[in-house]
Amino acid sequence: MMLGKGKMYWYAAAIAPVAQPDAVEGRKKELERMYQDWFPAIPELIAATDEANILTTHLYDRPPTQPWSQQNVTLLGDAAHPMLPTMGQGACTALEDASVVAKCLKQQPDPITAFQRYESLRFPRIKAIVEQSLQSGKMGELNNPLAVGLRNTFIKAMGSAISNSFKSLHAYRA
Ligand SMILES: Cc1cc2nc3c(=O)[nH]c(=O)nc-3n(C[C@H](O)[C@H](O)[C@H](O)COP(=O)(O)OP(=O)(O)OC[C@H]3O[C@@H](n4cnc5c(N)ncnc54)[C@H](O)[C@@H]3O)c2cc1C
Repeated sequence: MMLGKGKMYWYAAAIAPVAQPDAVEGRKKELERMYQDWFPAIPELIAATDEANILTTHLYDRPPTQPWSQQNVTLLGDAAHPMLPTMGQGACTALEDASVVAKCLKQQPDPITAFQRYESLRFPRIKAIVEQSLQSGKMGELNNPLAVGLRNTFIKAMGSAISNSFKSLHAYRA
């Protein structure tokens, strides 16, 4: 993903045992080995990245849950609704939460009422995004060759419908 000013970031995900330590050969070598047969831009990107800039993050999924608020305390962002990065919405929804919670506190100075309103405004959208992230994560985890073939055909056929669904996701105004 382009970050502007000639910089970009990338991430690669793989299924692993819980809290698996880094490979003895090092993060970069492990990635080079895992992605050696991919479209040439992928191994080139890995080769062009400094090992020190490659971070390991353990990802866990969880269905959306409530409540986020108790009395005059509430949660937002990953603390309220952790999600896999498959939809690229974790930071976006954290910023949306911040905007909505600020508006609710402006309209309703009592934090208990404001936080209840914030949660009721945010939960339906968040639930849909977390569930979609879980679903796309599951599609990425397939390893049965038949299921992988079907998934790849489906994604190719549905390309424009998928990009349209992102348009409506991005059209939201907090
Ligand atoms: C590989 C990857 C790719 C991603 N890509 C995207 C993307 O393209 N688009 C997108 O929108 N999101 C993306 N995300 C998700 C995004 O990074 C997170 O959803 C977002 O950072 C959550 O923000 P947050 O403020 O809720 O939590 P965090 O960013 O985790 O911030 C919490 C902060 O609290 C600090 N903290 C924790 N405990 C304490 C304490 N006791 N005292 C003081 N400070 C404390 C932590 O150090 C941290 O700085 C991606 C995530 C991953 C892992």
